[in-house]
Amino acid sequence: MLVLVINCGSSSVKYQVRDTDQQGEGNQVIAKGLIENVGTKIPDHTAALAIMAEELKTPLHGKTIDSIGHRVVQGGDVFTEPVLIDDQVLQQIDDLSPLAPLHNPAHVLGIKAATETYPGVPQVAVFDNAFHSTMPEYVYRYAVPEELVEKYGVRRYGAHGTSHDYVTGVAAEYLGVERDQFNAVVAHLGNGASITAVEGGKCLDTSMGYTPLAGLIMGTRSGDIDPSVLTNLMMRDPELTPERMDQMLNKESGLLAIAGNNDMRAVVEAMEGGDERAKLALDMASYRLAKYIGGYHVAVGGMQALIFTAGIGENSSPFRELTVSRLGALGIKLDMAANQVRSDEPHLISTEDSAIPVLVVPTNEEKAIAEATEVIVAG
Ligand code: AMP
Repeated sequence: MLVLVINCGSSSVKYQVRDTDQQGEGNQVIAKGLIENVGTKIPDHTAALAIMAEELKTPLHGKTIDSIGHRVVQGGDVFTEPVLIDDQVLQQIDDLSPLAPLHNPAHVLGIKAATETYPGVPQVAVFDNAFHSTMPEYVYRYAVPEELVEKYGVRRYGAHGTSHDYVTGVAAEYLGVERDQFNAVVAHLGNGASITAVEGGKCLDTSMGYTPLAGLIMGTRSGDIDPSVLTNLMMRDPELTPERMDQMLNKESGLLAIAGNNDMRAVVEAMEGGDERAKLALDMASYRLAKYIGGYHVAVGGMQALIFTAGIGENSSPFRELTVSRLGALGIKLDMAANQVRSDEPHLISTEDSAIPVLVVPTNEEKAIAEATEVIVAG
C-alpha cells in the first residue's frame, strides 16, 4: 500500500511516501520532504500540500496514494488508538486544541488540506500520546483538586508515544522476548526528550506530563521544575507574564540556558574543550535521566533492557556513557567499543556480564504511522 505520512506543524509540513508492500527499511521510502515557511512565504497548508503533490509527481511515476496517515500530537483521553478520520473525528481533534495549542490546530488544517488535495483517499490519525493511554490512574493523576481535572483535563498525557511503542516492539523482537512479557525503560532523547517505563509491553509511566515541558532536561526545555517558581515570580514581577514564563521554560531553558547551546554535539565538544558550563549542563541532564531510569526500573519490577533512541540517544555515545556511568548500582556495564558503533539496526552496547542489557534502537515514527494507517484502512 502506498501511504503518505504527513506531520503538519504550524509553519511546516513534513511528509514521506512509503510503500508498505516493499521489504526492508530502505526500500519502503519512495519520497520524503519538508516544506517550511507555511503562513509566511507559502500562504497556508493547502498551498503547502499543493507544492508537496507537485514534488511527488516524479517519484510516484503516475502511481496514486492509497491512504494518508497524519501524526497528531494530542488525542487527550478520547483517542487510545489510531482512527479513520471523518467529520466527527476532525471536530474532536479540533476540540482537543487547548491541550496542544501549537499542534492540533495545525493538524486540523493539514487534514482539511489533504482532503482537498486527495479527495476520497482515506485518512488516518495516529496519536502521539495513544501509547500512554494504558497508564493507570495512580500514575497519570496529579494530586490537585478535582475541579482542575474536570474543567481543564489536567493529568499526565505524555508524548513521543509512537516512537516509544515502535522501539519497544523492535527491542523485544531483538531480544527474543514476547512483547507482553517485556519490561523495559525507553529513553527517547531528541530535541524533545522523554522516558517511558514499559511493563508487559505497555506504557506504565512516562516523563512528559500535561504538556511536553515535564520530565527530562531537553535542548531548550527545563523539564521538571517546582511549579511555585512560576507562580511566585509571576506574582512578584509584572514583566514575567504567563506568556513570558512559557517562552522562557520552553524555548530558553534546558541545555541552552546552562551551556549556551541546545545542540548536544556542540555541548559535548565544548565540554571536551574544557568548558565548565557545558560540563555542568551534561552533568545535570545525565543525572536527571539516570534518576528517572532508576525510578522506572523499580516501577516496572525490574527492566529487562534499557533502550536509547532518537537523535541524541542514537548518536551521542558520550552522553550515553555519561548516563550509564551513573547506573553502577544497577550492575549495568557499558561496552566502550560497542558504544562507539553507529548503525541503522538495533544493537547492544552493554558488556556480556552487564546485569541488564543496554540497546540502541533507531526509531522510525514514519514507518510506525504508515503501518498503523495500513492496518486501519485495510480494515
Ligand atoms: P531529533 O529530535 O530526534 O531529530 O534529535 C535532534 C537532536 O539530536 C539534535 O538537537 C542534536 O542535539 C542531536 N544529535 C543529532 N546527531 C547527533 C550526533 N551525531 N551527536 C550528538 N547529538 C546528535
